[in-house]
Amino acid sequence: MKFYNTLTRKKEDFEPMDGKRVRMYSCGPTVYNYAHIGNLRTYVFMDLLRRCLKYEGYKIKGVMNITDVGHLLSDADDGEDKMQKAAREQNKDPYEIAAYYTEVFFEDLKKLNIERPELTPKATDHIEDMQKYVEGLMEKGVAYETDDGIYFDISKFPEYGKLSGIKLEDQLSGARVEVNGGKRHPADFALWKKAPKEHIMQWDSPWGKSYPGWHIECSAMSRKYLGDVFDIHTGGVDHIPIHHENEIAQSESLTGKNPARFWMHGEFMLVDGGKMSKSLGNTYTLKQLEDMGYKPMHFRYFCLNAHYRKKLNFTFEGLDGAKIAYERLGSLLLKHKASAQTTSPETLAKFKAEFEADISDDLNVPGALGVLWTMLKEPYSADIYNLALDFDRVFGLSLKDYEEEKPELVVPDEIKAIADERFAARKNKDWAKSDELRDKLAELGYVVKDGKDGYELSLK
Ligand code: AMP
Ligand code: ZN
Repeated sequence: MKFYNTLTRKKEDFEPMDGKRVRMYSCGPTVYNYAHIGNLRTYVFMDLLRRCLKYEGYKIKGVMNITDVGHLLSDADDGEDKMQKAAREQNKDPYEIAAYYTEVFFEDLKKLNIERPELTPKATDHIEDMQKYVEGLMEKGVAYETDDGIYFDISKFPEYGKLSGIKLEDQLSGARVEVNGGKRHPADFALWKKAPKEHIMQWDSPWGKSYPGWHIECSAMSRKYLGDVFDIHTGGVDHIPIHHENEIAQSESLTGKNPARFWMHGEFMLVDGGKMSKSLGNTYTLKQLEDMGYKPMHFRYFCLNAHYRKKLNFTFEGLDGAKIAYERLGSLLLKHKASAQTTSPETLAKFKAEFEADISDDLNVPGALGVLWTMLKEPYSADIYNLALDFDRVFGLSLKDYEEEKPELVVPDEIKAIADERFAARKNKDWAKSDELRDKLAELGYVVKDGKDGYELSLK
């Protein structure tokens, strides 16, 4: 398989370090609010990567962290902790907030058929691991203490910026500008923050009551569960210039090694061509889309249709297109399923080879979807249906469970009146009348099915 590696800026052949076992780390959500559809696109990308690897016979140990402390309003260490802010605004305990949004996040993953990674550790359960990590960096002489925390000194890591291509000199030259909080350089980042009294989440540490910085969470947890070096690290493109640059600086300074062999990043989802942001009021949650009548699979299909390294512009016209395509795909599949015909093994092998070539080429899932569509144009055959289900191990579109949406039955009032009368007779245990009215409904072309609290009519 070939994947684009952000670190080397090229597509490279991928082989795990350990035979067929892939160790993979994905930056997870900060659980202070509902995930929006942009966030979810990034997890669909993570899921497609996992599924493609599995399809090609790899086993995966995936870790995705849950950030429940330390992610400040700005990725670059300014502002309040997002959890603390949410707790203050909602007058709730931050642990309660974290538990609620983590649960909703996992429900969203489930609805979207995003396989939950094998391990999903929470930052607050790993305070000691992180603290030891920071102590290690202090011992190496790359971190220093200020009035408000412990900072990483980027001038001690000459390769700082190699992931995003920013130059260390440019970062350091900003040092002439006034720097807050006793930082030596503006781009020095917080490893640990001293907690003001009102900060609810705080722990004892060699530096007093305090809490971890966001970047250290991922370095400490990935190292703990996957070792000093693992195969793949994923996240959204916004993580390249700060968060992942900082993870690399921390890991390489402590262990001497870049933690991930492949750094892979999912491009952003835009809304109406622009940035998605809460302040613009243009973010949507999965639940909002569901309330508008879309199935989670319509949104998943919408994501699959764009390559993960291309920006994806969200519009309702686009989502409607995905909905129509998904429903058409499902109904075509049902026709193949119902067929008693077969397809030649050569034809099937040709489609499978094309499909595998696409998913092995830096997750060309839109290409693989194209193969599926071409295949469905073949004469109806159950073999095609079965191969489509095999492909769905990658797509994750729930094709096996696809059911055609039944149009809602409009029952004329006079039929409804007979059915109501029958239901009343039944309730009064007037079985003769109830049977007679059932026969009458049947003559008029309706079948009635009784439930505990009512009945359901369908056409004969
Ligand atoms: P957060 O919960 O803010 O830490 O973000 C969770 C994930 O969503 C991260 O991997 C981000 O890179 C990603 N992300 C944030 N905004 C977008 C967006 N508009 N499109 C795609 N991914 C995004
Ligand atoms: Zn991370």
